[in-house]
Amino acid sequence: MEKTFPVKIGLEIHGYLNTREKLFCKCLVPSISDPPNSRICPICTGQPGSKPMLPNEEAVIKFVQIALLLKSKINSGVYWYRKHYDWADLPKGYQLTISGTHATPCATGGKFLGINIIEAHLEEDPAQWNPESGGINYNRSGSPLIEIVTAPEFSSSTEVIEWLKNLILMLSYVKAIRKNAGIKVDVNVSTYGDRAEIKNLNSLENIKKAIDYEIKRQIENYEKGVEQKRETLSFDEKLGKTIKMREKEQAKDYRFIKDPDLPPLEISKKVVEKIKHSLPETPKQKLEKLLKKFSIGEKDAKILTKNLELVEFFEELAKEGIDVKKNISWVTIELLRILNWNKKTLEDADVDIKPKHLAELIILVERGKITPLKAKQIMNDFVPKSFSVLEKGDIEKMPREAVENICRQVIDENPHAVEDFKKGKKESLNYLIGQVMKLSNRRADFKVATEVLKKLL
Ligand SMILES: [Zn+2]
Repeated sequence: MEKTFPVKIGLEIHGYLNTREKLFCKCLVPSISDPPNSRICPICTGQPGSKPMLPNEEAVIKFVQIALLLKSKINSGVYWYRKHYDWADLPKGYQLTISGTHATPCATGGKFLGINIIEAHLEEDPAQWNPESGGINYNRSGSPLIEIVTAPEFSSSTEVIEWLKNLILMLSYVKAIRKNAGIKVDVNVSTYGDRAEIKNLNSLENIKKAIDYEIKRQIENYEKGVEQKRETLSFDEKLGKTIKMREKEQAKDYRFIKDPDLPPLEISKKVVEKIKHSLPETPKQKLEKLLKKFSIGEKDAKILTKNLELVEFFEELAKEGIDVKKNISWVTIELLRILNWNKKTLEDADVDIKPKHLAELIILVERGKITPLKAKQIMNDFVPKSFSVLEKGDIEKMPREAVENICRQVIDENPHAVEDFKKGKKESLNYLIGQVMKLSNRRADFKVATEVLKKLL
């Protein structure tokens, strides 16, 4: 019988907290478009004599929000530690963190979708070192990070990816993580021996590939009789392989010491309670609300709740006095269609589509003033910026006589199709209807056009 391996996978997830300023100075958190070293000061570049300012309150609040969503216990009065290592990206020679051998993390315990959380803590990001040019960009240095550590309770890459997708979605609902900065994940995998840690995976795709490769590699090693020691690996995207970086440093190698410049981080019960009460709905709560309040189908509700901006758009649309249940496909199909076509999302800064404008269109269709096809055609122009259709002329549905005139014109201009139809080729009728729609600028009603054409033919 084939041996089965007790695969255990744990994650350390690093996310950039969504704050205006860095953790210990007043520098703005950089965006990708900022020129190198344009968001820096003596503190975040580790100049001799500079001391950290008190930690950014906004970062602490975002941290607490996330910890509460993970059902973790918030610890107050915890110390900042210096985690020492010697690397070009670390100007001070240490990173400030609330973790390490002696530390009490800012949050402990918790659970999310069946997986236990060991701890979550705050820390600062190092700078960015380019190993090819040797250049260092300090923009990132000192940005606030959250690290979430899970218990090694996943048993496959599929489970990990599904869980991470849900975590990312939930974090997007509280807007606590910077969306475009992405997340970085260290994954530890154990099968028969000690665990191997794969560092710095930056996409779901790479996480999946790295885990699958690593499980296979360890099982092959077992069959060869190789002992699995604790080790640190990196994932080579091009080769699709995990590669040995070093034997795992023991935690003491970091020479953790309490930072003498910073007081312990106090997070009072009162503040925690306040944050708890102001937490927005989670995706799960939102889904339940949609099902109950609007009695829409579960499939549609799931499409909506997968994206905060989309579900908020839908909720705004519902306030415009239209039957959203009946008209849901205008959001779940048509709106997504025009966004996808333009490779845009509602979050994009240059996209401005107002629920009010879509509501106007839907109301005109419902009242029979314009055809659904015409409405879809108008919607095509809603990206990047929607407009009031009521202010736009030449859209209303055509009167029957006008449709008849166009049908006559189409019949005159398409003798071949007419002949084919008369010979029994049914598809020719669709072609002729298409021509009527085109000539009428989609203002002819589909039913009327079909009826009239059939009659005239
Ligand atoms: Zn700074």
